[in-house]
Amino acid sequence: MTILRIDVDRNRCTGIGICESYAPDRFEVDDDGTLIVRGEDVSAAERDEIEQAVNGCPAAALRLVEVPA
Ligand code: SF4
Repeated sequence: MTILRIDVDRNRCTGIGICESYAPDRFEVDDDGTLIVRGEDVSAAERDEIEQAVNGCPAAALRLVEVPA
């Protein structure tokens, strides 16, 4: 069995915060432009929202990876 996990490429992230607009409970850009991710694991119920955030990132800094549960 696998679970989905959020992976952030901090070298690509520009801190604009599009991801935050799609999934504000999970992503937040602080005043310094640093992305804060609240938890990495993605439940089935959250998947659509998180996928929108991943696909909406203009810097391709986010991806979902499958990891062993
Ligand atoms: S949308 Fe992408 S580039 Fe912008 S803050 Fe989120 S992860 Fe970083």
